[in-house]
Amino acid sequence: MTEHVSPASIAYVLSEPDGLSRDTLDPNDWTAFRFLARQMLEASIDKMQSASQGRVWTEPTPALKQSFEFAIPKQGRGGAATQAQIESLLPYGVGNAHPRFFGWVHGSGTPSNLIADIAAAAINANLGGRDHGAMYVEKQVVRWCRELFEFPETASGLVVSGTSIATLIALKAARDRQLQFASRKAGINGARLVGYTSTQTHSCVARAFDILGLGSDSLRSIAVNERFEIDTDALRVAIAADQAAGLQPFVIVGTTGTVNVGSIDDISTLADIAAKENLWLHVDGAFGAVGVLSERLKPRLTGLKRADSLAFDFHKWLHVNYDAGFVLIRSEEAHRKAFSERPDYLKGAQRGLAAGNPWPVEYGPELSRGFRSLKIWAQLSEHGTDKLGAMMTQNCEQAAYLAGLVQAQDTLQLLAPVATNICCFRYVAPDQSEQELDAFNNEIVIQLQLSGIAAPSTTVLLGVTAIRVNITNHRTHKSDLDILINAINEIASDLLRNC
Ligand SMILES: *Cc1c(COP(=O)(O)O)cnc(C)c1O
Repeated sequence: MTEHVSPASIAYVLSEPDGLSRDTLDPNDWTAFRFLARQMLEASIDKMQSASQGRVWTEPTPALKQSFEFAIPKQGRGGAATQAQIESLLPYGVGNAHPRFFGWVHGSGTPSNLIADIAAAAINANLGGRDHGAMYVEKQVVRWCRELFEFPETASGLVVSGTSIATLIALKAARDRQLQFASRKAGINGARLVGYTSTQTHSCVARAFDILGLGSDSLRSIAVNERFEIDTDALRVAIAADQAAGLQPFVIVGTTGTVNVGSIDDISTLADIAAKENLWLHVDGAFGAVGVLSERLKPRLTGLKRADSLAFDFHKWLHVNYDAGFVLIRSEEAHRKAFSERPDYLKGAQRGLAAGNPWPVEYGPELSRGFRSLKIWAQLSEHGTDKLGAMMTQNCEQAAYLAGLVQAQDTLQLLAPVATNICCFRYVAPDQSEQELDAFNNEIVIQLQLSGIAAPSTTVLLGVTAIRVNITNHRTHKSDLDILINAINEIASDLLRNC
């Protein structure tokens, strides 16, 4: 008679040490490991506690770069040596945690996100699907996003690395819906799909057109008005012209928070046009969409709830540590139909570990996915939407304050109205040609970055090089902007004296 094995005795058998020593990748000495890990934790907290001090950015030294140049180790170098080298990297960040980091659009992170990342690493979950605790955190993040943007309960969403991939996912759903999803097998098959966006749109939209086989030329760049918002009359004209030429318009891409100047397209009017022409309305809200949490910005974002899809980041103005973005799609059906594949080895089940349908893998290109949603959830849980929104309002006030400083000085010229949190201006040295002014302002920005005092970036507006100050930073004070202007004036004086 075969002996009946109860589940309890299985558990007992499995946990019984067999006395054989096996080689694993676990530490041989857990006490030593704890000691090292705590050292790293202390160093990391020190780094975050001093985020407002010292230089903004420090150029990586030749020694640092060389220290990483060695052959892939055949014999491991051990935990202590590896950790020492990791620690050597800590001073050489982008600088985005510093209150005078003003370049591009970077969030400034929070110390508490460190905790979520530690736990996420310990759980080491794969969120492609299946039934485990992390999935319930992610599902709640999706629910919160729907609520935040007043999307219907049927809308679907996916946590991704950032707005670039979120845009790709949304535009694939738009493309496939337009082609009745036949494009999944047949490709675009000669369809002449065209889309519309403004000249101020981020390059990730054209790149998505490229990746999706539509070609970036199929994305029409529509002019902007004096506030750098898409010219909706010009948009109507362009759509009509393409229709008359026998092309198939399928999508409009609006932006809430353009990358150059932070302007917000008139999403309500775009939604009207999309409804009339039966087009998909996608919104790139990379940093600006979460402005719905700010009393100051919310009234300008009411059109968002009419979008078919929205791409945005948690790692920018919500300061979740890199990386964390999101795509929200009104039609769960279109979203799923554009991505769902369930081969035999990924079949779901009603019970057991393969339960928990639908799985995230049905809503995007990735199967294996990390637990990004934990740090998103933790940020919202700890700080709450009121405080996070107030931080954004403060940044908008600071950008307006900076514009005031610029306008108060003859040698500075404001190059775009301050729409939200970005201020673009230049230093106008006397008797310089436009070309010389471009070079002069580029040099000012490089010297600012090298000095460690502040780190704005540059852009080009209406053909003119601008010093671009983006403030998505909960550590910035108005005094940091005074320091910035003083430093610009000093550098400019030095340059003029020496030329
Ligand atoms: C940053 C940004 C993007 C790209 O987002 P990633 O998260 O870097 O992929 C797209 N659009 C705008 C307006 C942005 O500011």
